[in-house]
Amino acid sequence: MSPRRKSKASRGIRPAGGKGSRPKAVKWRALREEVVRAGRRLLREGLVARTWGNVSVRAGAEHMLITPTGRAYDRMAPGDIVPVNLRTYTHEGPLLPSSEGKLHAEIYRTRPEVHAVIHTHQMNASTVAAARREVPPILDDMAQIIGPTVRVARYALPSTDRIVRETIKALRGRMAALMANHGAVCVGRDLDEAFVVCQILEKACRAFIEAEFLGGAKSIHRAEARMMREFYLKKYSMLDQRKT
Ligand SMILES: [Zn+2]
Repeated sequence: MSPRRKSKASRGIRPAGGKGSRPKAVKWRALREEVVRAGRRLLREGLVARTWGNVSVRAGAEHMLITPTGRAYDRMAPGDIVPVNLRTYTHEGPLLPSSEGKLHAEIYRTRPEVHAVIHTHQMNASTVAAARREVPPILDDMAQIIGPTVRVARYALPSTDRIVRETIKALRGRMAALMANHGAVCVGRDLDEAFVVCQILEKACRAFIEAEFLGGAKSIHRAEARMMREFYLKKYSMLDQRKT
């Protein structure tokens, strides 16, 4: 460090926003870009239309970064992504957080392992959600990646505290839940995993609908489905440890 820079620092000159705001802004820039890319991917993969659905990531111990309400994904910029305090639910900047933001915040508060949340209106999951049918363990990959079943949260109006409570309950011990007559929520340890969960959920819901027409979906035994999930978690936590 040059003597001049050192003396500036010693005078206590800091960027606007107070202590630590520059590293936070730098760290958040990459996360904001990830959220923008994820929003475009939602559209591209047909998981939502227009401005429906929403994406967020955990940002440090106290915040999440979430897509704003009412903004088209193809015109969204990193600066439009809204920081929200998980404890107080106050947000920063001129744009409002997505209308299901409280659900995202409650997931981060209650599920420390979750670092990304995607809310979708994907077709086959929405069909099963409209029938309010719990998806039984019908495919091995569903059991491994999502959990032994996919529950349906009881119906509640969008953006209400009740929909938050019901969805959190349905999501317990699972990586996805259906929201009655509405859509789905998928979570992951990062955005890539949350997308894989969305894809496997869509495949499982489609297989469930079609198997019902072929004489009825046949379930894997619940205990075996649970074993597969545990085996998957153990195997991938070992791989993660090897990477670090
Ligand atoms: Zn929705």
